[in-house]
Amino acid sequence: MQTIPDSGFYYPNLFIRIMLLSIEDVAGTNGVKTMLNMAGLPNLIGNYPPANMEGEFDFSHYSMIMATLDDLYGAKGGQLLATRAGGALFEESKKLIPNLPDMAGDEFQSKSLEEKIEAGLCLVHSVVTQKKTISIPRTEDGQFLYSVEHCPICWGRTTSTPRCFLTAGLLKAAVSWSTGGLDFDVKQVKAHSCGDSTCDYVIPVTPAG
Ligand SMILES: [Zn+2]
Repeated sequence: MQTIPDSGFYYPNLFIRIMLLSIEDVAGTNGVKTMLNMAGLPNLIGNYPPANMEGEFDFSHYSMIMATLDDLYGAKGGQLLATRAGGALFEESKKLIPNLPDMAGDEFQSKSLEEKIEAGLCLVHSVVTQKKTISIPRTEDGQFLYSVEHCPICWGRTTSTPRCFLTAGLLKAAVSWSTGGLDFDVKQVKAHSCGDSTCDYVIPVTPAG
């Protein structure tokens, strides 16, 4: 595994903790141990970051873990584990949000489907950037475009196709929650690791299937 130099950008401890616990759930403690050794981060074995929002985890360490997932479990296995970790990240970070909208309440239920989708995406954007977000840009054909300027998943990596499945899984879980369980085909269309300036995801305004 190639070492990626420190980025100087940091992600909250809790987000790494959730990601590692989600992988451990599937791969077991030995699986995570192997992965962290391969990623050059043996200091994290049995010593996951604490459950707090302090930004102490360098993006490069996060992306080394993501690259190792792909190396260890292959393109498909890495995708599944990362997508699952993204879903877990949404479920856990939702608990941290004060004044979470009441999904079952009349006010939320009176929203249109597009407003509900946007509410889910705004929630994620607000938590990740720590800035209140009230709208999400659209593509020319009216789908939502979620753009990430500094991506911890592919930081310093090169991939032939976009592979930031953790974020795609996070967004998918968010819009599923905000629409009362609908499934949306979230697609990553740009990636830093493919030479683009941002990691971009398109979220359709109609459910899959
Ligand atoms: Zn990325």
